[in-house]
Amino acid sequence: MNDQTIDSLKEIVGPKGWMDTPDDMAPYLVDVRDLYQGAARILLRPDSTEQVAAIVKLCAESGVTITPQGGNTGYCGGATPGIDGEHEDGVLLCLSRLNRTRDIDPLNYTITVEAGCILADIQQTAADADRLFPLSLAAEGTCQIGGNLSTNAGGTAVLRYGNTRDLVLGVEVVLPDGQIWDGLRRLRKNNTGYDLKQIFMGAEGTLGIITAAVLKLYPMPRERTTMFVALNNPEAAVTLLARLRAASGDGVTTFEYLHRLCLELAVKNIPGLTDPFEAAHTHYALVELSSGLSDGRVAALAESVLGEAFEAGEVIDAVVASSGQQATQLWKIRESIPEAMNHEGGVIRHDVSVPVSSVPEFLDIATRRTTETIDGVRIAPFGHIGDGNIHFNLVQPVGAAREDFLARTHEIETIIHDIADGLDGSFSAEHGVGRLKRDELTRYKSEVEKDLFARVKAALDPDGVMNPGKVV
Ligand SMILES: Cc1cc2nc3c(=O)[nH]c(=O)nc-3n(C[C@H](O)[C@H](O)[C@H](O)COP(=O)(O)OP(=O)(O)OC[C@H]3O[C@@H](n4cnc5c(N)ncnc54)[C@H](O)[C@@H]3O)c2cc1C
Repeated sequence: MNDQTIDSLKEIVGPKGWMDTPDDMAPYLVDVRDLYQGAARILLRPDSTEQVAAIVKLCAESGVTITPQGGNTGYCGGATPGIDGEHEDGVLLCLSRLNRTRDIDPLNYTITVEAGCILADIQQTAADADRLFPLSLAAEGTCQIGGNLSTNAGGTAVLRYGNTRDLVLGVEVVLPDGQIWDGLRRLRKNNTGYDLKQIFMGAEGTLGIITAAVLKLYPMPRERTTMFVALNNPEAAVTLLARLRAASGDGVTTFEYLHRLCLELAVKNIPGLTDPFEAAHTHYALVELSSGLSDGRVAALAESVLGEAFEAGEVIDAVVASSGQQATQLWKIRESIPEAMNHEGGVIRHDVSVPVSSVPEFLDIATRRTTETIDGVRIAPFGHIGDGNIHFNLVQPVGAAREDFLARTHEIETIIHDIADGLDGSFSAEHGVGRLKRDELTRYKSEVEKDLFARVKAALDPDGVMNPGKVV
């Protein structure tokens, strides 16, 4: 990038909109899991769509690459520029100053927000208007809606409300040549050809920069029932979920699975957490049902279905939260698992999905194959079983050398991803591809699919300036 281009970029964003010293840029050049150290020539923080468009146009004309970044909480290194010495001379484009709510329309059940809005702030703005924005994940205090849309984030309420791509009605995008596409439609019906907005969902910044979006809102739930259930086996989890869905008219908001080891590590390593049960069990589910009515029906229904599941021998024990505080405490166990595992040394993590009915088979095969491969490895699976999404995590054997264990990551990943693929599953259920799973995409996508990817990329970004080295 020559000095003239740099000066022009600085001029577009003004004095508050850029940084270029290594110290200032350092926190933005490493990913949240510390897998990648990146590099960039300059970090830009535009505060309007017009500024984004001017930056992209100038970069396109000068052949300068751009990596968009939201809250930088992504798990696949997608927001880290200049990894391994490739494209180090580019722009890191942070969207955090595009953080205005442009419109909220409670009667249309929509909110229009800029890409840099923090997810938790959007939830709060919706709640203030007595509406629910249901996307929910543990990073919600930091991640931004532009990042959520670009990774098609999942989270804990997918079962009821869908992935992020299901929550969007319209988008505004700056295309790789600097044109602005105003697709901010607030329509629930609009069958007028290709659904272009969906191309940008999960594209991880490789096709353009999302600058704003129209999101769907929902009625606020008036009543919730949260319960922690001990189960006989993973099959019982799937059966209980099916029972609850049928009985509640799809009132199940969340159905999370966790293995005993996850609970043990959370209780051991995170202060203030306790085991909800006196006896130890091997399999658990954290379940939440909700309703727009406040007539006590959800709690009664949950109790009656639990009763049936007890009689059928599926459920061994259950704790139904009697207060909001107890529900929060149960949720904290689930949310603490990733951090609790970090205290045990090396962890090899996966984010796979299979059809919900195949989860027990997946867990069985994956547990068997990995324990046969690494002596003493500790299997700690948890995840959004209601979506067929399991974070099949392996914790290093007690006393093993962390580096030796982590050196086997690729070998183990191949085993797990092959098993998921064999069950018609995915190697990345909700975290995306980014840099981390680029080779997996090459391995598991069909030739036809890869060709379509390449053609879409070439059509929108023929010079390859948008987030190079990621996804494709
Ligand atoms: C504690 C924790 C819990 C998490 N839980 C979940 C979970 O339950 N489910 C889940 O799916 N993920 C989860 N994640 C992963 C992460 O939070 C999500 O992927 C999130 O959607 C990323 O948002 P972000 O704003 O941080 O995006 P970033 O990490 O900044 O970027 C992610 C990708 O999107 C691109 N991008 C960002 N903004 C834009 C934009 N405006 N236009 C175009 N491209 C853009 C980037 O280039 C990058 O490729 C979790 C992460 C953490 C740290």
